[in-house]
Amino acid sequence: MATDEGVRLLLIGPPGSGKGTQAKQLTERYRVPHISTGDMLREQIRKGTSLGEEAKGYINDGNLVPDELILSMLRVRLSQSDSQGGYVLDGFPRSHAQAEALDALLERQGQNIKAAILLVLDDETIVKRLCNRRVCPECGRVYHLINHPPKTEDRCDEYHCRATLIQRPDDNETAIRNRLRIYHEQTQPVVAFYKEKGLLKAIDASREILRVQIDIERALEG
Ligand SMILES: [Zn+2]
Repeated sequence: MATDEGVRLLLIGPPGSGKGTQAKQLTERYRVPHISTGDMLREQIRKGTSLGEEAKGYINDGNLVPDELILSMLRVRLSQSDSQGGYVLDGFPRSHAQAEALDALLERQGQNIKAAILLVLDDETIVKRLCNRRVCPECGRVYHLINHPPKTEDRCDEYHCRATLIQRPDDNETAIRNRLRIYHEQTQPVVAFYKEKGLLKAIDASREILRVQIDIERALEG
């Protein structure tokens, strides 16, 4: 019997939980690709593929992109050669139905999810983090007024940049609380699904980046 050694990880976490940073650490540690369904959709739309056009239609009408469309995109992506040793999947599954569908897809290929990593952070901490976030519109560097302020007020530190920092329009308290409400509604059934399977690893994401990283590694190896 062939053994399945692929490191397939799901990364679940609210906005502002450091998910992007941890995804990057995991992909480097396990030498697997970071697969984000959101990024994939945006790429399909930018390239104007038939799938992208179809997705754009739903989005422009204010609707969710149907599961079947995301799944067919994911099916192709997961069959590519760089995904054979595993991956960090981000942004999917977003519902119980999607989790079931992913499960069925993997089962057909004789593959398993190694763990579903859940970054846990309370809403008040997230609001505080995101309200104080500033970004450079030129180079994309991210600052935090309290934890990681720019050296000169409102200016990017990068020597060749020095652009005036901005606050993203959706980084205001009302928009953040709305995003969090949607996140909790969507995530709850997915978390329950993986908890029942014994695959859920809940990690305290309120601590510093390196500490969170170590906790994830321990959870995966323990
Ligand atoms: Zn900059």
